[in-house]
Order: sequence, then C-alpha cells, then structure tokens
Amino acid sequence: MAIRYECRHCGKAIGKLDNFAVEEHDLGFQALTNEERLEMIEYEQNGDIKVKAICENCQEALERNPTFHQLDSFIQ
Ligand SMILES: [Zn+2]
Repeated sequence: MAIRYECRHCGKAIGKLDNFAVEEHDLGFQALTNEERLEMIEYEQNGDIKVKAICENCQEALERNPTFHQLDSFIQ
C-alpha cells in the first residue's frame, strides 16, 4: 500500500510514501471537508491512495498569475 502525490494541474508525480502504516486520520485528511476529500483523494484498485496536490512549478505559476486558479488544467 502506498500513497502517491500527484500534481492536480500538470500531473507530475510529487512524491510517494511506500508501505505506510498510518491511519488516514494521521495524514491530515480529517481536516478536509468531505467534498475536499472526494476532490483530492482517489482510492485506487490496488489499494494505493492518490492525493492530488500541487507541484512547486505550478505553485509558483499560480503565485505569479493567480488567474490560473480558475483554469484547473492550464498546462494540458
Ligand atoms: Zn504541476
């Protein structure tokens, strides 16, 4: 079981936690609303969890040009 972090904008893999043995409530997910959880977290068929985050590049781009926020996948 692993957690994979992926950029929601460009799809870049940000990081991966292998063989994690923490419960979901240790990952900070409990701070999210149900809606946010559905939007950010995907449970894959193999048991992995995919978390849609944002990579450094896109974070920088967003800070430079906040209107990108409205275009969810501006890089595609
Ligand atoms: Zn990105």
